[in-house]
Amino acid sequence: MTGEVVTRFAPSPTGFLHIGGARTALFNWLYAKHTGGKMLLRIEDTDRERSSQAAVEAILDGLHWLGLEWDGEPFSQFARVERHREVALDLLKRGKAYYCYASQEELADMREKARAEGRPPRYDGRWRDRDPSEAPEGVSPVIRIKAPQEGETLVRDMVQGDVRFPNKDLDDFIILRSDGTPTYMHAVVVDDHDMGVTHIIRGDDHLTNAARQTVIFQAMEWDVPNMAHIPLIHGPDGAKLSKRHGALGVEAYRAMGYLPEALRNYLARLGWSHGDDEIMSTEDMISWFDITDVNKGAARFDFAKLEAINGHYIRAADDAYLIERIVSLLPELDGTEKIRAKLDDKHRAQLLAAMPGLKERAKTLTELIDSAAYLFAERPLDFDEKAANILTDEARAVLGKILPQMEAVTEWNADAIDAVVRAFAEAEGLKLGKVAQPLRAALTGRSTSPGVFDVLAVLGREESLSRIRDCAP
Ligand code: GLU
Repeated sequence: MTGEVVTRFAPSPTGFLHIGGARTALFNWLYAKHTGGKMLLRIEDTDRERSSQAAVEAILDGLHWLGLEWDGEPFSQFARVERHREVALDLLKRGKAYYCYASQEELADMREKARAEGRPPRYDGRWRDRDPSEAPEGVSPVIRIKAPQEGETLVRDMVQGDVRFPNKDLDDFIILRSDGTPTYMHAVVVDDHDMGVTHIIRGDDHLTNAARQTVIFQAMEWDVPNMAHIPLIHGPDGAKLSKRHGALGVEAYRAMGYLPEALRNYLARLGWSHGDDEIMSTEDMISWFDITDVNKGAARFDFAKLEAINGHYIRAADDAYLIERIVSLLPELDGTEKIRAKLDDKHRAQLLAAMPGLKERAKTLTELIDSAAYLFAERPLDFDEKAANILTDEARAVLGKILPQMEAVTEWNADAIDAVVRAFAEAEGLKLGKVAQPLRAALTGRSTSPGVFDVLAVLGREESLSRIRDCAP
């Protein structure tokens, strides 16, 4: 194929951008970028009852968040109904389609008969060669394609290989309903042709549609675009992806604290790989991605792997960038009102100072927020169970004893405090942990946190000493 590659992502706006759709969009985007081509966005909104503007917005938001920008304005399939009708009438004129007046009862009989004979339910072609003068009065007909009856239809798929469909199994399906609206099968072909789509990349649940759509392309004597049907995403147990497995909207992943670049990296690896590379920059993905390298077998969704990749991206991320992400995520998280209310310049600066220690331990932004909670806590602190257990009378006595020495620290920084605490532990014949753990519990209300000297430095002298005093006897 010569000329520019044009791919398209064609979601039906009946719900959020779910994770499978996001991967389909990503593969279309990667392939377009890899080839220096374009990715178009077509909103398949012809089903008026199931489509909604809220879903359109959610899909656009999800794509923006993932950084998958399309070229040009999004197309509305519904807005093109006239054109779909025109092509259906054109097919009629070319003798490639015909009016069918079969009634609902006749169609039901046909299905019943097929079932009784153990055949798949297929339209029997009863109006295929009938003269229109035989049309019954007052019936609005549908238009059906005259599908070939002999031989086979070949789909040359870039992922699945050559897939052959015996034509006897493709009946004369409807392209225009009696109310003049196009069927999905027909609208997709007209749109893909008119939009100059060269590569159709979509889920392999559309493979049978590909054969039917090929019939329409050929009837119009249009070039059939290259096809690539990518395997669906399954759960880790191999079963169809369920909510429990992660069949959620992209916005749910955002709310769980995943970074878009991490999700994008993870999704790219679902069904496609480049050697053993797990972590790939966007530039690398674009330069390495080829649709023919996508695996035929179903990909398995694995939350643990996604978390590990996300943790990697968090550790590697710029601290200020993480704060931006946190700030934009906070309003979506319940129970963060206090943090939001307190997030002034001083707290932002503290968060920034604490970030190197915090990000080492977090796999998601929500974990990061959770572990930063001590910065925003109000005195007296709430202690979690483990912290409460650490703060025994004995531990509190240790805090009481070290307090004057800490009050005497003039240069309040991690190294200076570290030196004081160590000297104290040595003089008292205590292991460092016997001092550090009570300090940590008193300062953060938890039993785990970034390095306690960093915590002390970030909280600052006054707040640190007050929190220690609160726990001293
Ligand atoms: N609108 C279809 C869907 O959301 C995709 C159609 C296509 O890619 O051809 O499943």
